[in-house]
Amino acid sequence: MSIIIKSEREIAAMRQAGRIVATVMKMLKLYLRAGMKTKELDMLAAKELEKLGAKASFKGYRGFPASLCVSINDEIVHGIPGERVLNDGDIVSLDLGAIYNGFQGDGAMTVAVGEISSQARKLVKTTEGALMAGIAVAYPGARLGDVSATIQDYAESRGFSVVREYTGHGIGQEMHEEPQVPNFGRLGEGPELKKGMTLALEPMVNAGDWRTRLGNDHWVVFTADGSLSAHFEHTILVTDGEPEVLTVA
Ligand code: MG
Repeated sequence: MSIIIKSEREIAAMRQAGRIVATVMKMLKLYLRAGMKTKELDMLAAKELEKLGAKASFKGYRGFPASLCVSINDEIVHGIPGERVLNDGDIVSLDLGAIYNGFQGDGAMTVAVGEISSQARKLVKTTEGALMAGIAVAYPGARLGDVSATIQDYAESRGFSVVREYTGHGIGQEMHEEPQVPNFGRLGEGPELKKGMTLALEPMVNAGDWRTRLGNDHWVVFTADGSLSAHFEHTILVTDGEPEVLTVA
């Protein structure tokens, strides 16, 4: 498999898919509050996607039962929404993929429920900052390793660690295309970025150690040491100039 360069027509479709993801995320952030069950967020996401004429990328993907991933505190990614109730002080990572006219958008964010600890606040801010730092170097001619190393350095220099076993990815007609986009790496290594590539960058940052543990449902991924974790993701387009974020409302 090789990295797919998108045509203008494909990019236009991906802008629409990305906008839908961002629109639903914005709505979820508004609704999210203490006392809510995580399955309520999933139902909201599913309803809103349908209203916008899109399909949920995750639903049925390798058997995943929901439209939205909801991962709380020491849960890193792939949490299945259900009866769990959100509490004041939790951090909640929401991950959503949408398919529109055959093309995919993928985005994630970590949201605070009420008042959170200063460590949690710093972690969330750092993870979003790491994503934006990675995007900022995704110019044509750069190497994929430049993106990875920038994300890693941003998180580690602030005292946190980046998850190794789960990565960002190319995205297009498929949710996961070439290349994998690790959140750690070396400057100057890996494939060269070219105009027309579409990538989902998604740092998962842990307050403690980077190691992970799979939950009993074989979906949810925890930090091995029980520390907090945050997750931000955007689908982006490599252009002639500044990288374009597609998951914007
Ligand atoms: Mg993704």
